[in-house]
Amino acid sequence: MSAPLGSVRAVIDAATCVLCGFAPPEVDADGIRRCPVCRWRLGDSPDPDLPPPRVEVVYYLRWEQRIKIGTTRQPRQRLAAIWHQELLAFEPGGRTLERARHEQFAHLRAGGEWFRADPELRAHAAAIAGDVPPWHRYARWVADALRGAVS
Ligand SMILES: [Zn+2]
Repeated sequence: MSAPLGSVRAVIDAATCVLCGFAPPEVDADGIRRCPVCRWRLGDSPDPDLPPPRVEVVYYLRWEQRIKIGTTRQPRQRLAAIWHQELLAFEPGGRTLERARHEQFAHLRAGGEWFRADPELRAHAAAIAGDVPPWHRYARWVADALRGAVS
């Protein structure tokens, strides 16, 4: 019996997180297997009867020497529709935060939601992003929102 169980376990271990797909779950300090990226627990599944969580983000997208600051609840669809070369950062927040950022960098405005990619704005985006890739950070927020919805 141990051989089949062992092989099943090996398959589970190799599988990436069911929620974000970025990494296989790892054993935490408390002995529970969680995704190292979004912290989703191995074996938990989102309740299909609940609506998907609404995670609003302000995004910073660079194209050449311009950075677009916008907001969305569907970053994958939204970003796919905007020409850009680099996603600099996600910041948790919606319209209110977006407006505040537009005012903060009004002196760099290049038209619409696009701003000059001056060192000041680049440094701001880099500080928000920290050393975590933006999509990893977003995955964590989604997992946190789902956990809030199920518990
Ligand atoms: Zn994950």
